[in-house]
Amino acid sequence: MNYWEWDLQPVQISDELFYVGTRKGPSHLLKTNDGLVLIDTGFPQSLYMLLENIRRLSFDYRDIKHIIHTHGHIDHFGGTRALVEMCGAKTYIGEGDEDAVMGLNELSCCVDFNRELEEPFTPDVIIRDGDKLKFGDKEIEFISTPGHTKGTLSLFMNLTWKGKTYRAGMFGGAGLNTLEEDYIKRHNLSFSCRDEYKASIDKLLTHKVDIHLGNHVRDNNHLAKMEQKREDNNPFIDYDSWGTFLSKQKEKIEIL
Ligand SMILES: [Zn+2]
Repeated sequence: MNYWEWDLQPVQISDELFYVGTRKGPSHLLKTNDGLVLIDTGFPQSLYMLLENIRRLSFDYRDIKHIIHTHGHIDHFGGTRALVEMCGAKTYIGEGDEDAVMGLNELSCCVDFNRELEEPFTPDVIIRDGDKLKFGDKEIEFISTPGHTKGTLSLFMNLTWKGKTYRAGMFGGAGLNTLEEDYIKRHNLSFSCRDEYKASIDKLLTHKVDIHLGNHVRDNNHLAKMEQKREDNNPFIDYDSWGTFLSKQKEKIEIL
């Protein structure tokens, strides 16, 4: 596995939100009037690519004040411990996933990615369903959407582009890998996680989303949108992507 092949150019999604992650480890950077908020940090091995993307956009990683995690898997929190040592940011995780990032259970997916959890961290803030947190002039609404993990958080926020406001949303854990029979049995989990996943999708479908943010680049066709992006055209404003993606995931879980 050549981690350096995961490098991806950063892209501006709205006035205040930027994709700064890699092909395998998603990360979004939110600019506020009180510092930067980073959503997910990717794998530990690709932290240098994340830092390089932040630099490419002329931001300073030392301005990151908050690091939010959509869920407790290594491809989402792997860079956190080192980054916190570098910038002193406060860390956030959904209720139920704190043990995974602290290394207290085997649910961080490290084994699945053939590695050990070398850099666990203790989160500063536990986020609960319905929490709305202010970061400077920005607010993020968190909805608990268990299934992929117990503490998966989905995020909603208002973003602006060319003078208009749009609602952005991210399903914080869409992968079906942890819902497969083998994974469930190996970790002594309950098959009820599949029902929770379906209920989470139903909950998310009640939200209207204009900008679908990917928890991985495949979720929202990020790579194709990135290629289409021009000064006068913002393909990330896409009114169909959210509903189409969620409906497809629901179909896939039915035939697992
Ligand atoms: Zn995951």
